[in-house]
Amino acid sequence: MFEPQKYIDRRRRVLEKIAKRAPIDDKVIEAMKRVPRQMFIDPLLADRAYEDKPLPIAAGQTISQIYTVAMQTNLLKLEEGDSVLEIGTGSGYQTAILCELGYQVYSIERYEELYNIARQNLEKLEYNALLVYGDGFEGLPQYAPFDGILITCGAPEIPQELIKQLTINGKMVAPIGRGLQEMMVIQKISEQETKIRKEGTYRFVPMISGKVDFK
Ligand code: SAH
Repeated sequence: MFEPQKYIDRRRRVLEKIAKRAPIDDKVIEAMKRVPRQMFIDPLLADRAYEDKPLPIAAGQTISQIYTVAMQTNLLKLEEGDSVLEIGTGSGYQTAILCELGYQVYSIERYEELYNIARQNLEKLEYNALLVYGDGFEGLPQYAPFDGILITCGAPEIPQELIKQLTINGKMVAPIGRGLQEMMVIQKISEQETKIRKEGTYRFVPMISGKVDFK
């Protein structure tokens, strides 16, 4: 893929700044240095791709702030080859980063329009994730269990159906709450028990049930 040098430089700069501000695994920063964020947004916004801010994508949704993507990816921390289910494909940016880390990636999006856009974005860059247009609250029982589940929209409460789809010792990284969310790392320690760690406050677009077809 050809990419103007200015994007490579800006990307390196913003990621080095984030790495200084928070203890994020080198592997995560290096993977993020390989993913061109400008390719996941409207070309008219390309010059703003490396502002560390959420930016608008289609269907009234947003691509998460770079810092938030780094934090969530770092909290998820899986091994190469592990399977991960992402809820909220959006632009496909976070999906690409999970692919760069060598995970086996599944991702669900409730807007058909975004599902199509993400599919094109990821195909162009030759990332192999399995994308599904559907309702994330249902998960993907046919591919479960997953070593990790990453939710990129604010869930009103911990989605219990998704906990069922985790392996024992698998973990879910999810912003939980209405309006503002608390980032939670939920480890499944047995069929009945979870252990929860809280990792700060964020604001995500809401996780909403049901899917929306392209109009
Ligand atoms: N990971 C995305 C972030 C997109 S914002 C990126 O990197 O661009 C969160 C996304 O979650 C939105 O696209 C929204 O439509 C989606 N979403 C909300 N509720 C959902 C649900 N129940 N199932 C699947 N996706 C959902």
